[in-house]
Amino acid sequence: QPELSGDFGILMGWADSIRQMEVRANADTPTDCRTARDFGAEGVGLCRTEHMFFEGERIVAVREMIMADNERERRAALAKILPMQRQDFIEIFEIMDGLPVTIRLLDPPLHEFLPHGEAELAEFAEASNMPLDIVRSRAGKLNENNPMLGHRGCRLGISYPEIYEMQVRAIFEAAAHVSKELDKSVEPEVMIPLIAVKREIEILKELVDRVAQEVMDAEKTEIKYLVGTMIELPRAALRASEIAEEAEFFSFGTNDLTQTTYGLSRDDAGSFLGTYEHRGIIEQDPFISLDDEGVGELVSIATERGQAQRPDIKLGICGEHGGDPSSIHFCQKVGLDYVSCSPYRVPIARLAAAQAALTAKRQ
Ligand code: PEP
Ligand code: MG
Repeated sequence: QPELSGDFGILMGWADSIRQMEVRANADTPTDCRTARDFGAEGVGLCRTEHMFFEGERIVAVREMIMADNERERRAALAKILPMQRQDFIEIFEIMDGLPVTIRLLDPPLHEFLPHGEAELAEFAEASNMPLDIVRSRAGKLNENNPMLGHRGCRLGISYPEIYEMQVRAIFEAAAHVSKELDKSVEPEVMIPLIAVKREIEILKELVDRVAQEVMDAEKTEIKYLVGTMIELPRAALRASEIAEEAEFFSFGTNDLTQTTYGLSRDDAGSFLGTYEHRGIIEQDPFISLDDEGVGELVSIATERGQAQRPDIKLGICGEHGGDPSSIHFCQKVGLDYVSCSPYRVPIARLAAAQAALTAKRQ
């Protein structure tokens, strides 16, 4: 750990002895995981699996899956992706070596996966052996005007359960491999994105438990795991009590929670927020620093309601705010168990968590 040696290492050691919150990293690839560990992350708080789907040849299989006309076609495409996805998780579990790893099931704004423009459509038609006019018409049908508010997250898992089944199978087969062949402990945390309604998590938790059991029976092994949810929609925060009947952990997705609470696009907001700050309408960009009054109130409400339903519920944050010092102070105040941020922000988060613990002690 060259970056964290010497005086800096000593300072970080002090911070670690004081802080109460765990610091994890958002890491999607084995490389991210190595960086995260080098910077002292104590686990992965968010592995965004959709990012694994863009690489190399995978995107062709992924597009075949998304544009499949029926379940048989979709399963054929998924069968091509399963071994690659399993290998992703094997490497991640191996590097994280028994530390908690939260894997989020697919949460794609669908448009990011679709081929765009004539050249990409034609390229995909050739790679997949599909006639170009069929490719064009299927891509057209999947197009949404507001993809970030559309058919993404758990909604996709409900419409096409075979996608989540493939991912859960890959997670548990990887976990079985790492624990049996490499003799390392693994405790996956399977996270369902964009839950708004209890029934969504009920249906998908059943799916996770069923597939996990199938793999454990086939592999003749037991794997400890948790199933939980992102809290990233205001409705989920308000209905946290009933959602906690199913969810064993909550992870606050404050990027989407800020977007949906303000009704403000996380992708376009930059254009006028400067003026808003200048005129004193807002104190700071709520996508950078958690708005602890509005968005934060939803986080507090969900925390209280979730804990009242399930006292040992694990609580964390994995939106960008998890690496922002003032937001980390807020997380300490509401009593979260961990923050998760990009690997390079982990040292700052460790320091901020220590400062937050000291502030709390003084009060
Ligand atoms: C979030 O919404 O805060 C989150 C962590 O998920 P994503 O940024 O992938 O939507
Ligand atoms: Mg989100």
